[in-house]
Amino acid sequence: MVKITIIGASGTIGKNVAFTLAKEDVIDEIVMYSREKSHPKVTGEVLDMYDALAAEDIDSVLTPSCNVEDIAGSKIVLITSGVPRKDGYSRLDLAVPNAKIIKEYAQDIAKYAPDSIILIVTNPVDVMTSIALEYSGFEKNRVIGLGNHLDSLRLKTILSRHFKINSGEIHTRVIGEHGDHMVPLLSSTTIGGIPLKYFAQSEDLNLEKLVNKLKNAGGDIISKKGATEYGPSYAIGNLISTIVNDTRKILTVSTYLEGEVEGVYDVSLGVPVVLCKNGIQRIIPVHMKDDEKAEFFDAARTVKKCTYKIRDLLEED
Ligand code: NAP
Repeated sequence: MVKITIIGASGTIGKNVAFTLAKEDVIDEIVMYSREKSHPKVTGEVLDMYDALAAEDIDSVLTPSCNVEDIAGSKIVLITSGVPRKDGYSRLDLAVPNAKIIKEYAQDIAKYAPDSIILIVTNPVDVMTSIALEYSGFEKNRVIGLGNHLDSLRLKTILSRHFKINSGEIHTRVIGEHGDHMVPLLSSTTIGGIPLKYFAQSEDLNLEKLVNKLKNAGGDIISKKGATEYGPSYAIGNLISTIVNDTRKILTVSTYLEGEVEGVYDVSLGVPVVLCKNGIQRIIPVHMKDDEKAEFFDAARTVKKCTYKIRDLLEED
């Protein structure tokens, strides 16, 4: 029996993920947990989803709940609760209120679903991953943040649309912070197995513009439609499907580092990992050029500084 819980289920990401996961054969039940005041809305969402699923002959079980004990037995608990990023907000502006929410839910998960894998979406996700790790007391392979997998999908889209080549031909990866200090690994990006630099030379690709477009991709969507929705939900779907199907794909997720990548430690950042049914099986070593390495160290410094500040504030609380 595979049970998944979504915390913050009334929100944009929460409800979209629920609908995406409802179509996964191997998932038996999705608990859509919300605060009590959002319970009627979540119940309405579930009824609406059932009608849509009936059109495809899918009989999933979606359980609206505002009782935290209902998370018991979950294989994965996804946390999407938090103040959403508004136009002009940096992800770090959200750190203080969201850390308090994550702390509380991480403690609940440790109590009611102690064998689960925690998947964090709430921003700033790299900082929140460390907070969830600390307050759940879980092993680090069971606390995972979504961020750079979405950035990697965005880079794939930009390259695919620029070169007018099927996105399946593009292998690329963004690591570091899910934020301004993300590090696109252009040196190891390939298109149809051919290094990007050969394409860039022949097609006059402006790499600086490309990186700026990537860094602004989320903000651009928010400024136009108020929130990001399908991209994050499908990216989360990729992570959950890889875990529940034990497909051992290499995906880029935020994880607490203890020196595995360039000696960086005591901070959560996006790095490539093998995902399996137990969460992170192992971190994959990354080959970086000197400029990419410098940017990765920058990301580590920035996220670590914020994490330390937040840790102190939570301890004082
Ligand atoms: P949203 O629509 O505003 O939903 C957020 C949900 O959080 C609300 O529906 C509510 O859920 C819960 N919530 C709000 N205030 C709360 C509080 N004070 N205490 C406890 N719960 C509270 O936001 P969204 O667009 O779904 O985004 C959710 C989070 O994901 C944000 O932090 C956003 O920045 C982040 N995000 C991350 C990525 C990524 O790649 N990591 C991508 C997109 C968005 P209930 O009422 O149902 O409990």
